[in-house]
Amino acid sequence: MTELTKLQRELTALLPETELRFWEPMAKHTSFRIGGGAETMAFPKTREELANILKASNLLDCKTAILGAGTNVLAPDEGINGLVICLKDCLAGMERLSDTRIRVMAGVTMARAAVYAAGLGLSGLEFAHGIPGTVGGGVYMNAGAYGGEIGRVCRSVEVMDRQGAIRVVPGEDMGFSYRRSVLEESGDIVISAEFLLTPKPEAEIKAAMKELIGKRTASQPLDLPSAGSAFKRPAGGYAAALIDQAGLRGYQVGDAAISRKHAGFAVNLGVATAKDVRRLLEQVSQIVYEKSGIRLEPEVRIW
Ligand SMILES: Cc1cc2nc3c(=O)[nH]c(=O)nc-3n(C[C@H](O)[C@H](O)[C@H](O)COP(=O)(O)OP(=O)(O)OC[C@H]3O[C@@H](n4cnc5c(N)ncnc54)[C@H](O)[C@@H]3O)c2cc1C
Repeated sequence: MTELTKLQRELTALLPETELRFWEPMAKHTSFRIGGGAETMAFPKTREELANILKASNLLDCKTAILGAGTNVLAPDEGINGLVICLKDCLAGMERLSDTRIRVMAGVTMARAAVYAAGLGLSGLEFAHGIPGTVGGGVYMNAGAYGGEIGRVCRSVEVMDRQGAIRVVPGEDMGFSYRRSVLEESGDIVISAEFLLTPKPEAEIKAAMKELIGKRTASQPLDLPSAGSAFKRPAGGYAAALIDQAGLRGYQVGDAAISRKHAGFAVNLGVATAKDVRRLLEQVSQIVYEKSGIRLEPEVRIW
């Protein structure tokens, strides 16, 4: 066994009750299936445990990143020094608050939240059913699809600051815009989100979700590892159309490629590295710019 680093030893001493894993491969926790070992990965089960982890991280002054389901993250090949706090399946639970409101914890997948809402006869999260991330990642990213968006149904968000203090932020103060929220600047962590939904017969909601999943399956390369749309939608156009018009469907760098099925997706054909994906995104963005004058920006978070 390799010797523990100073940080690993100190975190173990400060957090004896917390599940900590050392040199945990990020590839196991990202939908791209890419990324080297995280020096320490922590899996808090409660908000109190999360607060204690943040306090320890402040005390040790270590770099700390938050991970949901890793479906929008490109993690570096060389791994991550410091601490990654993984919230998927950790902060779990959902509850009905009133006739039209539900609260969902940050580590719950959006698919489960959508199915829960449907079961209560509440409409508004159908669009989120096929988005593979967590509610925490969805709020951070203001995830959206097929005309729906988290920001439109999110009434408030319970957040924890990096000192471990909790407060509730009303939806209108979340700075939601296209694939953005105020969390990008504040660094606050989503603990739970409250959604305001609309009553509708369960069968209608489930039929709509089934239709949207059908559209995804027909158009997206769901059989290959990816992080969804590689680029943000540019003003006045679609990234996939611009990439297609530039003749880049199937364009490849190492084992990273523009999907032949959907030109908006960058996929891992087998053993792609983060470097392959980064170079692919840079080259595609440059070629599209030369051909169209439009600069594409990555949607995927490059760590
Ligand atoms: C096949 C596929 C299809 C996709 N389709 C869509 C789509 O239709 N629409 C869409 O918008 N996206 C889509 N995505 C992208 C992705 O699923 C979304 O961006 C999702 O919201 C990311 O959630 P996550 O839990 O995986 O976050 P992660 O990828 O783990 O993290 C993304 C960012 O959110 C931050 N974060 C995560 N959790 C928290 C938290 N609790 N508090 C604070 N910050 C946090 C992370 O630090 C990181 O910066 C798709 C991805 C795939 C692989």
